[in-house]
Amino acid sequence: MRERNGQVMQSRLVVGNWKMNGALSSNAALLDRLVAGAGALPPDVGLVVCVPFPYLAQVRERLQGTSIAWGAQDASERAPGAFTGDVACGMVAEFGCRYVIVGHSERRQGHGETDALVAAKARAVLDAGMTPIVCVGETLAERDAALTETVVGRQIDEVIESMGRDVARIVVAYEPVWAIGTGRTATPEQAQAVHALLRSRLAEAGAAEVALLYGGSVKAANAAALFAMQDVDGGLVGGASLDAGEFLAIGRA
Ligand code: PEP
Repeated sequence: MRERNGQVMQSRLVVGNWKMNGALSSNAALLDRLVAGAGALPPDVGLVVCVPFPYLAQVRERLQGTSIAWGAQDASERAPGAFTGDVACGMVAEFGCRYVIVGHSERRQGHGETDALVAAKARAVLDAGMTPIVCVGETLAERDAALTETVVGRQIDEVIESMGRDVARIVVAYEPVWAIGTGRTATPEQAQAVHALLRSRLAEAGAAEVALLYGGSVKAANAAALFAMQDVDGGLVGGASLDAGEFLAIGRA
């Protein structure tokens, strides 16, 4: 337990993003190890794995009844219909997902997802009874041009404006694009500075208690220093979430 502004914060969230990785056999071994180790985590730490769509049934089968939650890495903002290749929020909800990542930089960059589309996806996820984990973050060029606050501010403002009071029901992940999968982590102070900006924008919207996760090359060795920051409530973990020992150690941090 820890305090912010005199209030006791109940929980920390450590979310694994498997990205486009996995196979039925290796997933089974990874999930077995996570289930075996999750009991030793502090009670205020929530562990989540966000997996590729085809593995949702396997993950539900293995994790239901355990303390580990699961989710998807994206979902469509549209209602079911003629959208070949897309997956509706209601479909992933049927597999027991509690969370859906939206606006990951790999989707913003590789699939042209705009701030408006990310906000629409966050709304659709909420409407389907799940929690959107909304990713924001600047590129290296933007940081070098001193545009971090402008870019991250614009990304979070779009979500705040479009969600209104419901913004209190989302989770936000700050993921500097230059730190994702690169082995280069933001310093705890760099992460805290952006988290403080996010906190203040959310507080103005009446949503000061939204969980703010940091993501970008988080591993067991750097997690404790990042999570010690005032406005860092947990982590969104890519590569290291594929290694049960590392992921559980991050949870313990
Ligand atoms: C991610 O995929 O969201 C991520 C932060 O990846 P990594 O931890 O591998 O940098």
